[in-house]
Amino acid sequence: MIPSTRHRFLAPWFLALGTWLFAVTPGTSPLVAQTQPPTPARYALAIHGGVGTDPAKWTPEQRDARTRSLTAALRIGQRILAEGGSSLDAVERVIRQLEDDPVFNAGRGAVLNAEGHHELDASIMDGRDRSCGAVTGVTTVRHPISLARLVMTRTRHVLLAGTGAEQFAEKMGVEQVAPDWFTTDHARRGWEEARRQQNQPVPDDRPKGTVGCVALDSHGNLAAGTSTGGLTYKMPGRIGDSPIVGAGTYADNGTCAVSCTGVGEHFIRHVVAHDISARMAYRGDSLADAVRHVVHQTLKPGDGGVIAVDRQGQIVLEFNTPGMSRGAADSSGRFTVDLGR
Ligand code: ASP
Repeated sequence: MIPSTRHRFLAPWFLALGTWLFAVTPGTSPLVAQTQPPTPARYALAIHGGVGTDPAKWTPEQRDARTRSLTAALRIGQRILAEGGSSLDAVERVIRQLEDDPVFNAGRGAVLNAEGHHELDASIMDGRDRSCGAVTGVTTVRHPISLARLVMTRTRHVLLAGTGAEQFAEKMGVEQVAPDWFTTDHARRGWEEARRQQNQPVPDDRPKGTVGCVALDSHGNLAAGTSTGGLTYKMPGRIGDSPIVGAGTYADNGTCAVSCTGVGEHFIRHVVAHDISARMAYRGDSLADAVRHVVHQTLKPGDGGVIAVDRQGQIVLEFNTPGMSRGAADSSGRFTVDLGR
């Protein structure tokens, strides 16, 4: 077909318009790419190393050891996120690091129950689809957080306890250790003191330290995890909030990721982690308002604290105790580690 005169006249104009549109559409033109550097991917990360006692009463060595440990863990998570890694990987890797550190009441440094044994709890949650996994009462697993992740990804269940969890660990080939791996002077002294005080929760001034991590990755996905040895001198078989999804841990891409620390019974009663997310979803609360309400109005002074991050990368670290070991880092350059008020 021979093009009409009118078509022949318009064709160059359409060609020019197309070229111009291509040039000004972001991501299509090398010219535009040169003048506008790509915005850095946004990520945010928060960690905690527990609440309970007043850091002002600790020795300088205890404060330094904690600060160093939190700083090292925060750097590990920050690197993963800065390199485009997933929030789930950051959460698991950070918690594994803290579980190996005898400074904290998780993994290696887990406190002892009334019979002088350790029973470890952990949970992890993926904000993309609210899949989650948890273990409770495990005694041989070096990294309960990794076992929790395997429950999430390799079973159709959410929470495995005691013997069943140990069998699953064996089947998955996760690292198991002899009980003395978890024996630390710190946990032993706490237990002896509690025994002297006959079943009362330990009112001592030594640092405690459940651990937790929440993260937003550069793909916009949230994740949360928590790991603990529970409460010193707890009844054998007692389960706190840390392995209970919705109480001690929660993550939903639509709202936030939360990890809690404190007297687990109160966090279970008030379903704290989910309540924070629900306040955002149903009431339209900001993360800061939701967390502050739950920590200061729902919970009572001395109950504990919360770390949380929302899908915009806002980080909130709130507690109603004299201190909470904590750290925060994000893609804007924030990097902070604190112990007390
Ligand atoms: N929430 C933990 C529990 O009740 C303990 C803690 O955070 O210190 O097991």
